[in-house]
Amino acid sequence: MSVPTEQYAQVFKSNNDPIERKKVPVSKPGPDEVLVNIKYTGVCHTDLHAWKGDWPLQTKQNLIGGHEGAGVVVAVGELVKDIKVGDHAGIKWINGSCGHCEFCMAGDEPLCTNALLSGYTVDGSFQQYAIGKAVDVARIPKGVPLDAVAPILCAGITVYKALKESQARAGQTIAIVGAGGGLGSLAVQYAKAMGFRVIAIDTGSEKQEMCLNVLGAEEYVDFAKEDVGAKVKSITGGLGAHAVILLAVSEKPFQHATEYCRAHGTVVCVGLPAKARISAEVFPTVIRMITIKGSYVGNRIDTHEAIDFFARGLIKAPFKVGKLSELPQVFKLMEEGKIAGRYVLDTSK
Ligand code: NAD
Ligand code: ZN
Repeated sequence: MSVPTEQYAQVFKSNNDPIERKKVPVSKPGPDEVLVNIKYTGVCHTDLHAWKGDWPLQTKQNLIGGHEGAGVVVAVGELVKDIKVGDHAGIKWINGSCGHCEFCMAGDEPLCTNALLSGYTVDGSFQQYAIGKAVDVARIPKGVPLDAVAPILCAGITVYKALKESQARAGQTIAIVGAGGGLGSLAVQYAKAMGFRVIAIDTGSEKQEMCLNVLGAEEYVDFAKEDVGAKVKSITGGLGAHAVILLAVSEKPFQHATEYCRAHGTVVCVGLPAKARISAEVFPTVIRMITIKGSYVGNRIDTHEAIDFFARGLIKAPFKVGKLSELPQVFKLMEEGKIAGRYVLDTSK
């Protein structure tokens, strides 16, 4: 397969600097790495946090963002045996990890303190050719469409993991906060595929229509118009949802979720609004035995399982396709909360 020496990428120098379409060199994979010709890349709200620099974690300078890149392997390092040129693969958030710390040994590689993060500490998928460690690139079966599978590489894996972490059982009710966004739309679909009943929480009629009529949530609560806690309780016979999955990019729901979580239920925090705090009243949290926990992407087996759900046709969430060059406009729409579902960018344009 012929690999060019130059390619187009979306680059910014430091946080909040202009995002520029530039010609940059194509990197060569190291001995344990693969080079993936990215065909499509999803745009995650994390990419917007990376550009703004609003998290307490430094980004690389001259960063090429992106961590939902789906494409074709075009070169492999000399130590790589189990993935070959021509295979379909995905550049996901965890680009590589040390492999020998306590967390890596236990299969918890997202917790590795030396993990490389695609589109954050190393260049990611907002380019036509991206590098990943061979053990960490996602394996994508042939025949799976690369545009639709791109959002699975972060959003899908993350929400699938969060639903598992909730410890809820099939038949129970999950409140998904931020259900109209990229993670949220996939969370509704994974929740349904896993046998849960879904209350979707977000705002606006476009997201309402998508959640109820396209994704299959049973109920929709508009956080801008309704009292979320009261509505969720009334839908659930006064008891609350068995689990609440917090995917929103604002602090408020992180301070109220325990109020509409059922006794012995779990609040799973996933969204990462800047400088936000979680709070809960001690007395009801204790006597109702509420669990509050964080959930962070997923490991390699979560990745395999999340892609397998998708490959079996169980996960269908709407996405819009744009050009890689449109990234700044997509960030603007995302900031304004105007994207229902995910935006996926075609890197050839
Ligand atoms: P998105 O912009 O596509 O969706 C966010 C949604 O939250 C929007 O639909 C918005 O309307 C909704 N929202 C805002 N305020 C709300 C409120 N008060 N109540 C209910 N909904 C509200 O973003 P995304 O790509 O889905 O990412 C969501 C968050 O998850 C980001 O902070 C991102 O960085 C984070 N994230 C975390 C992980 C992880 O591993 N924990 C992985 C990926 C993304
Ligand atoms: Zn992401």
